[in-house]
Amino acid sequence: MKRTKIIDLLKGELLGEKVNIKGWVRTRRGNKAVTFIALNDGSTIHNVQVVADPDLLPSEEMTRITTGACLNVIGKLVESQGSGQNVEVQAESIEIYGTADPQTYPLQKKGHSLEFLREIAHLRPRTNTFGAIFRIRHNMAIAIHTYFHEHGFVYFNSPLITGSDCEGAGQMFQVTTLDLNKVPKDKDGNVDYSEDFFGKHTALTVSGQLEGEMAAMALGAIYTFGPTFRAENSNTPRHLAEFWMIEPEVAFLEIEENMDLAEDFIKFCVQWALDHCMDDISFLSEHFDKELIDRLRFVLDKPFKRLTYTEGIQVLEDAIKQGRKFEFPVYWGADLASEHERYLVEEYFKRPVIMTDYPKEIKSFYMKINDDDKTVRGMDVLFPKIGEIIGGSEREWNYDKLVKRANEMGVPEKDIWWYLDSRRYGTAPHSGFGLGFERLLLFVTGMSNIRDVIPFPRTPNNAEF
Ligand code: ATP
Ligand code: MG
Ligand code: MG
Ligand code: MG
Repeated sequence: MKRTKIIDLLKGELLGEKVNIKGWVRTRRGNKAVTFIALNDGSTIHNVQVVADPDLLPSEEMTRITTGACLNVIGKLVESQGSGQNVEVQAESIEIYGTADPQTYPLQKKGHSLEFLREIAHLRPRTNTFGAIFRIRHNMAIAIHTYFHEHGFVYFNSPLITGSDCEGAGQMFQVTTLDLNKVPKDKDGNVDYSEDFFGKHTALTVSGQLEGEMAAMALGAIYTFGPTFRAENSNTPRHLAEFWMIEPEVAFLEIEENMDLAEDFIKFCVQWALDHCMDDISFLSEHFDKELIDRLRFVLDKPFKRLTYTEGIQVLEDAIKQGRKFEFPVYWGADLASEHERYLVEEYFKRPVIMTDYPKEIKSFYMKINDDDKTVRGMDVLFPKIGEIIGGSEREWNYDKLVKRANEMGVPEKDIWWYLDSRRYGTAPHSGFGLGFERLLLFVTGMSNIRDVIPFPRTPNNAEF
């Protein structure tokens, strides 16, 4: 018999018909006369109630139907007497595919803390919460591809193993084929990588931007969407060592249009979530964040506030004068911490902020320098609850200026000769940005910790499975 997914079953169109459903037991209750089983198959946050006569199986078998067990049920779809749901399945046969011993199965009926669930990341997709989160994650990936596809961008895959440190921040995971226990080291303990498979010191990419720029210089508009890696030794709720980034890169685009693109794109994604994930978002809102849906609508409501870094510092300094306290210092030249970013968004402007024209010292070598020679055409998009969600810029497209800036910032020319070729041959103005996929998901799901929006989070001391 053909299986019906629970999401389709709940539409009620098969009322009165014989149906086959398969799924995992969420709860089981009942009395001598009747057994109620809440079954979920992952297609939706909602369970379907299976009503079974206790004599349907030998009593020994029946007791093996506990939370976590997997069942194959055939029965009639009927109107439900109980509240909450329109339909239920009157079981005619139940086959137990797999049991889950209540003595050892970690996911019992009672709610578990998110901290505990992180320790069993391999099982947590079976909870309502993580089912909802991972369905939303999937839907947001579709939103991203849809947006760029509809706007004529080419999906371009940048390499994961690379020889260049795009951000120059020294946060790269080294990739080597050498057995580091066996290769000789010099007196300072440094390894000679010249014998390495690649003949060169390689690492996992921190960003696909530089390669993405090469593609934009040929295809016009591209985006990457893949994993990136940063040896973040920080333990914050917003940083992972392995995260996914979306990086559009566009030829002939200047900074103002780059801001328009970022705003339009992110609003599209949030609207998509409201249009496609409402069941899951409602569940998460009810259980974790009562203001979630309001916050999603709030982002769509007004244009984002655009201001310069210098203006932003002024607002923060005024706030401090009026008694607002921050943990980290505020002065022109300092990078903003998320507490500052959140103050601007949540308390002062009360809407998302796009901040531009940062001091050149705190941004990467590839950003275009303004005429003042002090600031760069960089832009960060700042969001409620999160702070920085996007970092982008107009790229320096003048060969001489770029080489000068790379030298000043200690990026060896020999490492980026291929990147410089794009400025040497047929250079063009262009811009782009990077959106952290998990930061977007934090916003859309209302979760507070980035470890809870990626299936297997990679953070310091956390790479067991
Ligand atoms: P932050 O200031 O939060 O450390 P960043 O300025 O170092 O971020 P960028 O290099 O600008 O980050 O990267 C672009 C985007 O990638 C960021 O705006 C953010 O959304 C995301 N991102 C950066 N680092 C991480 C990380 N460790 N984990 C998850 N997302 C990240
Ligand atoms: Mg960082
Ligand atoms: Mg930053
Ligand atoms: Mg940034």
